[in-house]
Amino acid sequence: MQIAVLTIFPNMFDLFWDHGIVRRAIAGGHIRPDTLDIRAFTADRHHVTDDRPYGGGCGMVMKPEPLARAIDVSRDRIDGAVTVLMSPQGVKLSQQTAEELARRRGLIFICGRYEGVDARIVGRHVDYELSIGDYVLSGGELAAMVAMDAVIRLLPGVLGGAESAARDSFSDGLLEHEHYTRPREFEAQTVPEVLLSGNHEAIARWRHRMSLIETLLRRPDLLEHRRLDDRERQILRQWLQTLERILRHQAAHRPDSLSGRQ
Ligand code: SAH
Repeated sequence: MQIAVLTIFPNMFDLFWDHGIVRRAIAGGHIRPDTLDIRAFTADRHHVTDDRPYGGGCGMVMKPEPLARAIDVSRDRIDGAVTVLMSPQGVKLSQQTAEELARRRGLIFICGRYEGVDARIVGRHVDYELSIGDYVLSGGELAAMVAMDAVIRLLPGVLGGAESAARDSFSDGLLEHEHYTRPREFEAQTVPEVLLSGNHEAIARWRHRMSLIETLLRRPDLLEHRRLDDRERQILRQWLQTLERILRHQAAHRPDSLSGRQ
């Protein structure tokens, strides 16, 4: 996949391209990154990329001409690329959005600064507006890195273990189970026995159960929107029965203090 990033701070990406999975993805030929300095597409002597807003007010706005040129050049270089403007007003990035972007042939990320970009760029040159959350950053660079990282690790062949992306949190609608490594005992806490058993089926069942309970406790909203399989429904029913038993038991023993109270 070819990925272009349009920014007035290209150096910010040097470290990003040069570490971890992203670096490996480049070395393995899975992605071809291209960081374009928006300043290089200005026509004036001072390479100005921003200007005062029409209608007054504080802050500056990114001028449309250099951006339009940079986008056109990137589109020419990358066949079938989708243009993604980082913006707090965009669609919120989710695992599903990342999967969708990972299926594209190429991506062009535009990093805003100041008060954002001229609205005419958004209308004509942008396919997606993408937010990384309901808070405002001072620039789109970090946001673009977040989005790119989420996308790149999903590209076929990028992650080592063939299945590790498929098992990550969110990819199947559940949070991932907890992980342990050596030593077997740490600060008087031991690794769950089943993980030492060598019984792969039992381990897989335990992990699935842990995923389910993590999701139930931390993100019940995910379970509400997920199609549970038979086994998951059975596990939840068992937990429900246990909870009901506990509550019945409590009510039977402390009728005054508990019954009738919510
Ligand atoms: N005045 C704008 C915010 C501009 S912040 C507003 O109120 O909507 C400057 C730039 O940072 C934006 O153009 C965008 O590229 C980037 N940015 C800020 N917050 C972001 C977020 N939550 N997600 C993605 N990009 C963001």
